[in-house]
Amino acid sequence: MHVSRLMLKDKKILLGVCGSIAAYKAALLIRLLVKAGADVKVIMTPGSVNFITPLTLSTLSKNPVLTDYFQVRTGEWNNHVDLALWADFIVIAPASANTIAKFAVGVCDNLLSAVYLSAKSKVYIAPAMDLDMWVHPATQANIEKLISYGNIIINPASGELASGLIGEGRLAEPEDIVQFLISDISKALPLLGKRALVTAGPTYEAIDPVRFVGNYSSGKMGFAIAEELANKGAEVTLISGPASEQPPLNLKLISITSTDEMLEAVERNFVKSDIIVMSAAVADYKPKKEALEKIKKVDTEFSLELTKTPDILTLLGEKKSSKQILIGFALETENEEENAIKKLNRKNLDFIVLNSLRDKDAGFKSDYNKITIINRDLTKESFALKTKKEVAVDICRKIFQLLK
Ligand code: C5P
Repeated sequence: MHVSRLMLKDKKILLGVCGSIAAYKAALLIRLLVKAGADVKVIMTPGSVNFITPLTLSTLSKNPVLTDYFQVRTGEWNNHVDLALWADFIVIAPASANTIAKFAVGVCDNLLSAVYLSAKSKVYIAPAMDLDMWVHPATQANIEKLISYGNIIINPASGELASGLIGEGRLAEPEDIVQFLISDISKALPLLGKRALVTAGPTYEAIDPVRFVGNYSSGKMGFAIAEELANKGAEVTLISGPASEQPPLNLKLISITSTDEMLEAVERNFVKSDIIVMSAAVADYKPKKEALEKIKKVDTEFSLELTKTPDILTLLGEKKSSKQILIGFALETENEEENAIKKLNRKNLDFIVLNSLRDKDAGFKSDYNKITIINRDLTKESFALKTKKEVAVDICRKIFQLLK
């Protein structure tokens, strides 16, 4: 899937469809939105059902289509306030001259106009009508009013119209509507234009072709951070060791195995990165020599000579520019804060995330983590036990503050 399409993943979108020949394009639009991972609910005006059937749109949206305030037979009603609050944003496509006029003056005579009046989220309006209707001063005045209410107009395109006239008034193409939505959502992202580099997972240091020195890191924390940074608009490169988790889709993944490979990948990406989060549980030691053949089980005792791996984070701390934000992790079992502060200083970090193995349910493999952030000025912020996804949100929030 195209990376920017992921911006629509899990978005709750209410699509209003009005009576217009272009209503058939709503079917294509729904397909694109659903394919991009959005949850789409469709409200049809009474007039629109003459142009395309609710069955088509409910099948494509995978949700029942809403047309009335209530079902005559069951008395079940569609709560317009709940619907409006459910939506992350509302899209009216095609928006007819009639519905645009109703919205402009606040007429509330069908489910869609009632939802519009109750809406607190952004409303995107994609008009579709004949050229003469579109250029009429009444329509143009209504459009101006909608803009003054904060609604966003997705301008109609020019071309052949159903009436045979040629000019402006055609509903924007579904692909273009989707692109418009993506770029408008992106504008509000705090990390747009920023590049981030995240390391995650363990590293494996080969003993022989079948054995390694490693650790239990699952990569969950680093993956969650990488995903959250990407959700906030950053262009993310995730360098991961052999992690057990599925990596997020909205970023560039570089898979490595050993510390030396991680170092090489990090160095290739470091200079161009604005934000560097080193959450990998890098092995501190590696076998001095990697045996080319599988080591045979012969003696009762066997010892392995180890040598230090390069400390990637320390190397980055030495090179870091004043514009780059460098964040490290510390996983400690004793004298937690004291050790974390030493690392913060030694590795020249902007802040360090301390997670203690003493906290039950937190740490390696778990879906939860309990962290303390220690800043450069040694002020501390301790957080409650949370899911790693929530912890990632807290860490990213801290990053936004530093960028301001
Ligand atoms: O010194 P310690 O290994 O506890 O520091 C942990 C931090 O340093 C983590 O952010 C980890 O990703 C990073 N690190 C590293 N290279 C190593 C060891 C740790 O980048 N060889």
